[in-house]
This record gives sequence, structure tokens and C-alpha cells, in this order.
Amino acid sequence: MGTLGTFALGEEACADSITLAASRKTSTPDPRDDDMNTYLRKVRYFNEDHTDDVFLKEEQFQLLQSAVKRFQRIQNLIGFGNFYLLDFDHAVNIARTQTSVGPFTIEELSFLEQLFYASASEYGFYGEKPLRNLTDRIPMQEVIKLPGTGNFLFRGQPEALYLHIRKELGDQVVLTSGVRSVIKQFQLFMTKVVESNGNLSRASRSLAPPGYSYHGVSDFDVGQVGFGAYNFTERFISTPVFKRLKDLGYLRLRYPRDNLLGVRFEPWHIKVNVAADSIGRV
Ligand SMILES: [Zn+2]
Repeated sequence: MGTLGTFALGEEACADSITLAASRKTSTPDPRDDDMNTYLRKVRYFNEDHTDDVFLKEEQFQLLQSAVKRFQRIQNLIGFGNFYLLDFDHAVNIARTQTSVGPFTIEELSFLEQLFYASASEYGFYGEKPLRNLTDRIPMQEVIKLPGTGNFLFRGQPEALYLHIRKELGDQVVLTSGVRSVIKQFQLFMTKVVESNGNLSRASRSLAPPGYSYHGVSDFDVGQVGFGAYNFTERFISTPVFKRLKDLGYLRLRYPRDNLLGVRFEPWHIKVNVAADSIGRV
């Protein structure tokens, strides 16, 4: 196993001073460099530890755990819906002013910054990064709340596509996850890192690292009503909703089976192609 060795902490650290991750590699890793069978084993058995997985160092893992608890307290305070859209500066401000949350420490903020700006390919995630800045915001005028789901969608193509799907499939289909800010993605990814005992690679096979999720610009997840957490497992392909989506040609998947992005098969995650000028917005 590797560690994120040059993931140095300290006040002087800033985004462009970070030499990224394990010194064991001198160039950007690429799944094609790996033996393909080894690579495919990782994405098929995504929730296990594999040789060469990159782990946080113990002090980094402790900072991650304290920061994710702080995110949790913010979510409890402002509610799930608002937390989906929360940006970094606003989160820091809430923590500083609300005693039930408590301010992020300098070490926590430095860690979050480094985690955000580290290149995820160093630990095995090879997707693009549509939100490139830690402080990128979800423009409120560009999203709409979907009644009864607690989730938001981007207006325009994502909303139109979901409404088409609803029209065709009726109330058997549910929006299980829509718009997610950088902070929401931090919380989801870091919670997975905790479950993975500090294994960044394992976490990134199930959840895009913050900044790398297309939930931040366009994509959404759908599920079968009544199927609960199974909607986020491969068992989703056995549902009537999946079969109808497939038959009707709606299955444009961001993470198809055995993709080369380092990510598990996600049959529930619908890819929405949006104009390039709306990617990387600030
Ligand atoms: Zn998704």
C-alpha cells in the first residue's frame, strides 16, 4: 500500500506548492499502464483494499475525521436540502459563527484544501474535474428543487431529461441524487474514506472526489421507488425502472461497466452533456 506521501501539512502549504502523492510513480498513472486484469479486479471488487491502494497518513486521517464530523453538524443545523448546495466559504462562515458546529481549525482547512487540489489520478480516479476551484458555487438561479425528493436539478437539459423520464416511466422512477456542491461531495467522499479506513483509492472507486463529480454541473441518479439503498447497487439493473430506461434509450451512463475511469459500474447515474462554457464555472 502507498500513502499520500507528499501531502504535506502546514500553513505555508498552498495549492500549487503540493507535489502530488506517492513518490513511487514519476508520471501520471494510467489504467492502461496496469495489467488490465489487475485494473479490472479493482473496479469490479471496488469495495476492497487492493495492492498499491493509497492511504492517508494517520494524522491526515484524524483531520479528515474531525472535518467530516463538522460537515455533519453543519448539515444537522441547516438541513439536508440546503447542504446539497452549500459552498466552501459559506460552510467555513457557518462553522465560525455557530457554536453548535465550531470553527474549522487551520490544520483542517489546510487538509481540505490539499485534498481538493491533489490530483485524484494519484490514487486511482481518472475522471475529469468539472469544478476546479475549492470555492466554486452552485448558482442558485440555475437549479430547481424537485418536489417530494429533497433533491435539486440544474435547469435546462438535466431538468428536461428528468421530466421526460418521469413522463415515460411515471411515478415508479425517483430522483435519488441531483445537484451536489463541492461541500456535499466532500462530505460523501470523506464519509466513504472513513468507512474505508483511510483508503483514498477504495473510496474513489465508489464516490468521485470533491470537484470531480458531475453532480456539480449536470448529472443525476435515478432509482426504483421502494428499492431503497439497493438503487445504488448493481441490483438496480433487475428493476422495471432500469429495464424501461434501457429500452427507451435513456441509459447514457457516466460510469459504464469496466470503464477506464477507475470507477465501479453505476447503472443508476445518468450522464448529461452540457455546454463546455458551463463547466468549471466560478
Ligand atoms: Zn451519481
